[in-house]
Amino acid sequence: MTLKGKTALVTGSTSGIGLGIADALARAGADVMLNGFGDVEAALNQVSSHGGRVLHHHADVSRPDEIVEMIARTEQAFGRLDILVNNAGIQHVAPIEQFPVERWDAIIAINLSSAFHATRLALPGMRERGWGRIVNIASAHGLAASAQKAAYVAAKHGVVGLTKVVALETATTPITCNAICPGWVLTPLVQQQIDARAQADGDTERARRELLGEKQPSLAFVTPEQLGELALFLCSDAAAEVRGAAWNMDGGWLAQ
Ligand code: NAD
Repeated sequence: MTLKGKTALVTGSTSGIGLGIADALARAGADVMLNGFGDVEAALNQVSSHGGRVLHHHADVSRPDEIVEMIARTEQAFGRLDILVNNAGIQHVAPIEQFPVERWDAIIAINLSSAFHATRLALPGMRERGWGRIVNIASAHGLAASAQKAAYVAAKHGVVGLTKVVALETATTPITCNAICPGWVLTPLVQQQIDARAQADGDTERARRELLGEKQPSLAFVTPEQLGELALFLCSDAAAEVRGAAWNMDGGWLAQ
């Protein structure tokens, strides 16, 4: 499969799942706009190693005005935006009575509202050019809940709902919108949760085993590379009639 001539924007692609997906899209021939914080240089080096054009936009996706700027800059730099992957996300774990209001607002803004803004801004160009793929990185937590994750579970269920609405509104066009619902992937976002569990006795290996054992029957992490391949499939012609799906890749989490 080739994405030569296509351009993609992956939010939160300097790390983890977003980086894995950006890498897969670039390997298939797409030009890619990266976004996110941290080691931007390393991400640029990795994704550009496949030979396509790769740029980075610094937008903080909790800020709608910066998303406006990022979409405009992508269309201006590459002349088009064909594939939008809404991936940026953060986590906070606390019982609802103690859940910091500021963390609730940030999670809803970054994990949910950013997908709304990027989608509403990217769609007109996709409609004009008559092709598009929108892939939203939801979560197993978009389909099932866990205690102490009120904001994350609410945001991810919201992303699955948003995905279905956009799929319906584009159903008669060559534009599709789908969600991917990963189980545990060993990224910085999950390492923080393992570290928090290990705080009592410092046994990170036990904390990792327990985290997997509670939810993921395979007892193995899903990888960013596997998720990159699934995103690639959703961008292919074979997936033209996959619309509004919430596709879990979760080591059996949701089969229970
Ligand atoms: P990660 O922490 O490795 O990466 C998060 C990315 O988002 C980074 O590039 C970071 O710089 C960027 N980011 C954070 N806040 C941002 C902001 N305000 N503006 C722009 N970029 C921002 O995390 P990850 O595990 O790769 O998570 C990526 C997505 O996958 C998230 O939406 C997460 O909810 C989802 N997810 C992760 C898992 C998992 O087990 N890791 C499981 C299911 C779903």
